[in-house]
Amino acid sequence: MARDKEWRKKELSLKEVQERYPDIPKSMILKVDLQRRGLTYSDAAVAKIDPDIHLVNAAGANRFRVSADYVPDGLLMRDGSYLVISNFDYEKKEPERDPYLIDVVDDQIVIVDQDEVVDWIQGYWEKPDFYNQKASNGEPLNTYVACRPQRLEITINSYCHFWDTPGEGCKYCPMSPNYKLSGKTEERYDLKYYQEAFAEAVKQKGRNTIVILTGGSILSGEEVLDDELQVYMDVLKMIGEFFEPGQRFPSQLIATAFHERQLERLYEETGLMIYTPDIEVLNKEKFEWICPGKARHVGYEEWKRRIFKAVDIFGKGNVTTGVVLGVEQATPNGFPTEDEAFRAITEEAEHIISHGVALAANIWRATPRSAFQNQNTPSLDYYIRTLREFDRLQRKYISNPYTDDYRRCGAHVGLDLMRTYGEV
Ligand code: SF4
Repeated sequence: MARDKEWRKKELSLKEVQERYPDIPKSMILKVDLQRRGLTYSDAAVAKIDPDIHLVNAAGANRFRVSADYVPDGLLMRDGSYLVISNFDYEKKEPERDPYLIDVVDDQIVIVDQDEVVDWIQGYWEKPDFYNQKASNGEPLNTYVACRPQRLEITINSYCHFWDTPGEGCKYCPMSPNYKLSGKTEERYDLKYYQEAFAEAVKQKGRNTIVILTGGSILSGEEVLDDELQVYMDVLKMIGEFFEPGQRFPSQLIATAFHERQLERLYEETGLMIYTPDIEVLNKEKFEWICPGKARHVGYEEWKRRIFKAVDIFGKGNVTTGVVLGVEQATPNGFPTEDEAFRAITEEAEHIISHGVALAANIWRATPRSAFQNQNTPSLDYYIRTLREFDRLQRKYISNPYTDDYRRCGAHVGLDLMRTYGEV
């Protein structure tokens, strides 16, 4: 049961938002709301999982969780797009709002809200061939390389060193608290295991379009972030051996904002294609409050400057940045109204996008064990209004901004808008 029993009376419903934005696909609006409110599964929906076929609670994919229920890692929606959700952590005992229910009606998997079927889905994500195999140390290969339906993912560091100084981790992020709770002692694994897993993963023809690297920040080194850079470069060089020598290969690195010399090394010495230093919060003052570690070690204006420098090095369209949309309204220091937040962050988004940097937005959820775990997230209307404006800005300034689009990602639902508007 939701902690605020009256929450439905305080905001527009899914149907009302769908009616308010007729130029936005209803399916995309539903996906945003699924990520915002979360979902649960009926016994019948769980019984539809075939562990031999479907991706369920894959170890490598769950870096933000301590443990996971027996639920699918992702959904294949009615319109053929993906939705990353099932390995997200939500408050279950007393969620902020009532989650949706995944159920089965007439043998069809459906999405239900207040006993009404709001849509149906095609099914659950299928796992790739390499998930059935083990590394030379006996561990499942998916400990090292995870996947979504069309991409491979390698999370290098399971701990983020912004948390070394109490209070400096990003306030919406549960990664380092979960790492500490898990009792793990290895922040990352030996390169050879990533290599073994990647070698098997790429044997499956036609499955993957890109490999994504990410992980917690590493601040050490001769200069700040040198060690993080080196760790990623080692993995990128290993992956590069599977491709034509000297060629760039389809790859994305979501990392801390490196300075010019570090960026030049990254570009010159590896085949990395897309670089994504996530700025997270589109406002200097809110960034400094919400991401104090990033603010102290790099700083908001410097983070942006490094993003723009990266465009000079990697080229327009090859640099993107991520935000945690909605977190700018956290209390007590966030924007007090949705209108104020909308005005401020879309203005800043335009500044960033106008430099040829594509913007990918995650939908903020108040995740257990994050500093913001008891916060309230914004209304569905706010999310749709803002994502719609981000899309307009990207169409205005960038011809092809969609690295994390519906074909590869499934997490950044706003990027579904690259498809022709209209009813889906
Ligand atoms: S940089 Fe922030 S969001 Fe990223 S892992 Fe560290 S604390 Fe989490």
